[in-house]
Amino acid sequence: AARTRDDLRCPIVVIMGHVDTGKTKLLDKIRKTNVQEGEAGGITQQIGATYFEKSTLLTQTARLNETEKFDLTLPGMLVIDTPGHESFTNLRSRGSSLCDVAILVVDLMHGLEQQTIESLHMLKNRGTPFVVALNKVDRCYSWKTCKDMPIREALKEQAEGTLQEFRSRASDAKLQLQEQGVNSNIYWEMGDDDWENSDFVPLVPTSAITGEGVQDILLLLCQIAQRKLWKQLMWCANLQATVLEVKAIDGLGMTVDVLVVNGHLREGDRAVFCTLEGPIVTEIRGLLTPPPSREMRIKSEYIHHKEIKGALGVKVIGNGLEKVMAGTSVLVVGPDDEVEDIKAEVMSDLTKLQDKLSTDKKGVMVQASTLGALEALLQFLREETKPPIPVSAIGIGRIHKRDVTKISIMNEKGCPEYATILAFDVPIEQAAREQAEEVNVKIFTADIIYHLFDQFTRHMEHLTE
Ligand code: GDP
Ligand code: MG
Repeated sequence: AARTRDDLRCPIVVIMGHVDTGKTKLLDKIRKTNVQEGEAGGITQQIGATYFEKSTLLTQTARLNETEKFDLTLPGMLVIDTPGHESFTNLRSRGSSLCDVAILVVDLMHGLEQQTIESLHMLKNRGTPFVVALNKVDRCYSWKTCKDMPIREALKEQAEGTLQEFRSRASDAKLQLQEQGVNSNIYWEMGDDDWENSDFVPLVPTSAITGEGVQDILLLLCQIAQRKLWKQLMWCANLQATVLEVKAIDGLGMTVDVLVVNGHLREGDRAVFCTLEGPIVTEIRGLLTPPPSREMRIKSEYIHHKEIKGALGVKVIGNGLEKVMAGTSVLVVGPDDEVEDIKAEVMSDLTKLQDKLSTDKKGVMVQASTLGALEALLQFLREETKPPIPVSAIGIGRIHKRDVTKISIMNEKGCPEYATILAFDVPIEQAAREQAEEVNVKIFTADIIYHLFDQFTRHMEHLTE
């Protein structure tokens, strides 16, 4: 079928911002409102994501849309809540645009905080469009609650003193954004030129507790998606999917959480996954999503699907998934496909990385939690360290004893400084630690790249003293 503007997939929306700005609460608010209104069927909590059906979006924006009269055609919206920005890095692994648009949440009472600024630059660098939620507007002095109302209606109800505080805080936030090189304005005060300018950021005052402005932010995201992102949102049958996480679930064995951006996944499909030891081809035995619910994900309550359509987060059951790497692509062998071609394609991201490893086989081992993190780390070691730190081996996930044994050969090769594992955000087995003692391998761990580099540099200085 031809790709058309009439057949868009769900946009993938990511919520970012400093801790405690209200990211989770904002998502909760949208879910709860719906549950209260008996619309539970309209919301499905997904793996690491919440899926809102079109009907949910329509009811949640009904009041505002009486005046906006926006013709909402999206099939729904997939919203991803991030605990910190690291998971976002993972989601956005391989530079592929998994997220289409973002909500950057700012606490109106605190202004721009550290993680917000980091998120801001991350979004700018990647060219991801975003809106800023000026959250906790209800904390303005003597705020009069207008539960779940469009924000302009709520502001009309406020006393002059409250409005003054709101305006002053909003303009502070605007200035702080300006300092970060971002032009912004309260969204209904933006001119036509501002809307045309893709670098201009709309500000939406919200309260995640009392719900003012939540309609506005939802409708605005829909409008941005339909008006500005429709080209990238045209649904297509080609599967585009990325492994988010690999985890064991009681009674199900090893499962893989997959973000399906586009295309279909069906039970019985022959799926191809990437592992360090090569591609694996396995039949999809089950496709699960959690049921409509607000937060708890109880495994016995998973809903089984015969087929799912992107964009959606889904838990995949199959054999031999233990070694699948987070951050890699998933493909399906179609009737006209050569399985070898699909295997090569699935492995290509990893192969590209392996091609860049030290050619004389002397260098440290680098282990990271996902392919995306590994890529970032390798790039850092190659480009940001002087001299570059050579890497001879890479891995994803938990550090085993055999990894330690493998890198210990650097001691025999006459470069003990490279008998080292740089471990980024991964667990280390006790047996691996013991083995490291035994065979003189250093393991440095950190969840911030710079820290790893500092440790290793000190180690090198120590050795050369
Ligand atoms: P996150 O870390 O960004 O996910 O923030 P949370 O959603 O966990 O919220 C942090 C705290 O701020 C919680 O105590 C929330 O109740 C509170 N909070 C979040 N949004 C609002 C809001 O709009 N108004 C008020 N008054 N409190 C809020
Ligand atoms: Mg949270």
